Amino acid sequence: MSSARGGATFGAGGNKCAGCGKTVYSNEQLKAVNAVWHPVCLKCTTCQVTLSLKTVEAFNKQPYCRSHLPKASHTQVADSVATRQALRT
Ligand SMILES: [Zn+2]
Ligand SMILES: [Zn+2]
Repeated sequence: MSSARGGATFGAGGNKCAGCGKTVYSNEQLKAVNAVWHPVCLKCTTCQVTLSLKTVEAFNKQPYCRSHLPKASHTQVADSVATRQALRT
């Protein structure tokens, strides 16, 4: 389900960095979150801190640091539904 960004895939001549879209050569690439990244482009989606393979956490195919890794959303949905029902009754 990677419909959000870029449908084009370029097979030859190196991979495209998922952060900046430029070519990443294999001697510098980081493989994380089902994509490849420049070491400087692998950043937390929330706070932009630079991540490494040891610190990156994946959620919805986006990289996050450990403190900003979103919780699974079904808890929030359940909460809001419960709230709406509570307000109606
Ligand atoms: Zn990059
Ligand atoms: Zn963060």
